[in-house]
This record gives sequence, structure tokens and C-alpha cells, in this order.
Amino acid sequence: MESRGGPAPRLASQSSTAVSSDVCDGCGFDFDAIAVQEIAPRSIAGATEVAAELVENGEQATKRPSPDRWSNVEYAAHIRDVMLTIRDRIVLRLVEDNPGFKPLYRDERIDRGLYRLDTPEVVAVEVAAAVAMFVRLFEAIDEGSLGRMVQYGHPSPVPRMLAWMSKQVVHETEHHLADMRENARALGP
Ligand SMILES: [Zn+2]
Repeated sequence: MESRGGPAPRLASQSSTAVSSDVCDGCGFDFDAIAVQEIAPRSIAGATEVAAELVENGEQATKRPSPDRWSNVEYAAHIRDVMLTIRDRIVLRLVEDNPGFKPLYRDERIDRGLYRLDTPEVVAVEVAAAVAMFVRLFEAIDEGSLGRMVQYGHPSPVPRMLAWMSKQVVHETEHHLADMRENARALGP
């Protein structure tokens, strides 16, 4: 299982990235509606806006508007780690027939203070670097490989194509960008 299965307890329902069928319950992202050719440009566009949100609201980015939401630095650090994790999972599947993915442990990373030293300025740079690393590798693989299947754990273990897993970078980025903007609105100017 990727996380603890479904929404993390500390997150508001709108922050859940649980997916039923191929549409996200939280943000309406439709995996079938996005073409493979859109994965790279939309990942970059989303990451650029995540970085801008951190830089523009640096002071607020470390604050949680309520205990059940992450701060914007935490959302962005999560996006960064999703990008790097999925990048590595693509490599594993290209080499192995049935790689067993370890969970991302998204809540544990935060609960155990592993993002404690992350700052808005640093994470803004890292998100830009992470998306560049993901996209460069993604574009280096041949499109035929994107039909390979993996057992993907989040929100529940389901066989997914590498193409689906790559779209999850776009989804996670856009989904949590919306969370970050909601935080900015809640915290005010
Ligand atoms: Zn979503």
C-alpha cells in the first residue's frame, strides 16, 4: 500500500488524492483525458506554478491554516518527492518485470520531521530540479514501454500502466497546487 490507503488522517478531504476509477475524487483529474504528450509540459507548468507560489508567499508557506492541512512547503516537498519516486519507479519497471515498490510514506515523512529543515526558497529550486529530472528521463524512454504494467499501491493496489504512473506526476502536482492556493487564500495576504 502506498500510504495508509486513502486520505491521510491529518489531511482535509479535499487534499486526498484517492482515485476511484480513473478520476480523482478530490480534484476531478481524469487520467483518461490526458494524452501522453501532455505529461511533460503539464508537469513542468505545474511545477513552475508550485515554485512561484512558494516564492511569492514565502512567509506564509511554512504555516498550516488548520491542523488538518499541510503547509505549502510540506505540499511542495511532497510533490518533489513524488516526482523523484515515480522517476525511480519507472527505471525499476524498465529493468525488472515485477518490481515491488516500497511505499512513499508521505505522512511519515512529515510526522517524523523529515521536512523540518525544508524552506520555501530551497524547495522552490528543488521542485524545478525534480520536474526537470523526471521529464528528461520520461522523454528518454520509448513510448512503447509506457504500456508496461506495474502494481501501483496508491490508493489501493491496482495494476497500472507506466503511462498511468507518469500521469500521476501531473495529477499530484496539479492537485496539491490547488491545495497550496487554498492555503494562501485561507491565510490571507
Ligand atoms: Zn486529485
